[in-house]
Amino acid sequence: MRQAGIAPDAAEGSSAPPDPGSPRPLASRARSPRSRGRRPTDAGAFDGPTRAFTAGGAVAFPYDDSTKDTIMSWTGDPVWLADVLREAGLRVIEHEGWRGRGHGDFADIRGVLCHHTAGGSHNDWHIVQYGRSDLAGPLAQLVLERDGTFRVIAAGVCWHAGRGAWPGWPTNNANYHVIGIEAVSRGDGTDWTPAQLDAYKRGCAAILRRVGRTAADCVAHREYSSEGKIDPAGIDMDAFRADVQAFIEGEDAPMSASEVNQIQHFIAEFCGPIGSDVKDLREQLCGHAQRDRGEYGGWPQLGGRTVVDALGEILTRLDELEAR
Ligand SMILES: [Zn+2]
Repeated sequence: MRQAGIAPDAAEGSSAPPDPGSPRPLASRARSPRSRGRRPTDAGAFDGPTRAFTAGGAVAFPYDDSTKDTIMSWTGDPVWLADVLREAGLRVIEHEGWRGRGHGDFADIRGVLCHHTAGGSHNDWHIVQYGRSDLAGPLAQLVLERDGTFRVIAAGVCWHAGRGAWPGWPTNNANYHVIGIEAVSRGDGTDWTPAQLDAYKRGCAAILRRVGRTAADCVAHREYSSEGKIDPAGIDMDAFRADVQAFIEGEDAPMSASEVNQIQHFIAEFCGPIGSDVKDLREQLCGHAQRDRGEYGGWPQLGGRTVVDALGEILTRLDELEAR
């Protein structure tokens, strides 16, 4: 949400309310009434909207209706966020009350705006949920932890986009049309984890697929912003979008971190014992000496022969006996 160079303290300042305790895994599905809070007006100091929102306007579908079954652009709040992320195989923490949290309701959802927190700690979500002294939370719908877990903070509008422009998005008024993801990072572009980057792409793809959009509407804050934002630092957005589009289409998608974990678990639990069994059999047949170097010492009981060599010698001697 903020540029790098701002001390982590700025993102985790004392303005954050006290920790209310760990978020509960599953929030109530009841939807509480959401207040339309007073909109901030000092656009220079934060990622707030800068002009009055005007609803309406048709959403152009990015592709031919006949080729996709998810062509409807979503209108209204993304109350499906947690489900859609989970269905994409991602870990999700639902913060209590997230469906009722936000600065009013979405108009239509046209994309995803990618940020970094410029903090880097496991407490970064506090300020995203509760805001700062100069800007009321929530500041993004989602927080992406370094281990790839998504925290679902809000379903309503959040203050994160600020002033800027992107094709197909309303200039200086994206907050009512795009979902913000604040990824936990120091903000210098060097501390992304593989699990986090993988989840970042899969999460964006799952959301865009749900709202009937392509990776063209997966945008870095620095690409959208006219206020000098740099986030998310260190991520090549063209490569990022290519991977997101592959996930949307379900083609040539690289394995997720959880899939890699499953395969590693399989190898350890199943192939590991098999490898051990093979070694045991080889030792039974060949003797135990230096087996791991391919040198088989045979058995004292067989005069230093391996089982196969001893059998071979027995057969040779039998042949000799029978030939007499
Ligand atoms: Zn940002």
